[in-house]
Amino acid sequence: MAPRSRPSSRGLSKWQRAGAQERPLRLVGTPDTTEHHADGDWVVRRISGATSTKDYVCPGCTSRIRPATPHVVAWPAERPLLGGEAADARRHWHTACWERRSRTGR
Ligand SMILES: [Zn+2]
Repeated sequence: MAPRSRPSSRGLSKWQRAGAQERPLRLVGTPDTTEHHADGDWVVRRISGATSTKDYVCPGCTSRIRPATPHVVAWPAERPLLGGEAADARRHWHTACWERRSRTGR
């Protein structure tokens, strides 16, 4: 529990990024993960972007996510991904913007 020289948020980010790169998860079937946030549970899917053909607007920075850019898709966990309702609730985020969001409010 000894405090480090850096704020915990920065250290966490570095750790997360390093951990993600060490895993050999280059397969298509990256499993969805459920993350707990201040506004509820979100299902998160990290996608390569290789199949995306259009721009999305990232809610985190309101900039566009270009096609073929690896990014994050997230939707509220209480809505099963079955119908149009869940599709409407989906949001496309820059990976960095999503991780920044994840750290706020903790
Ligand atoms: Zn963004």
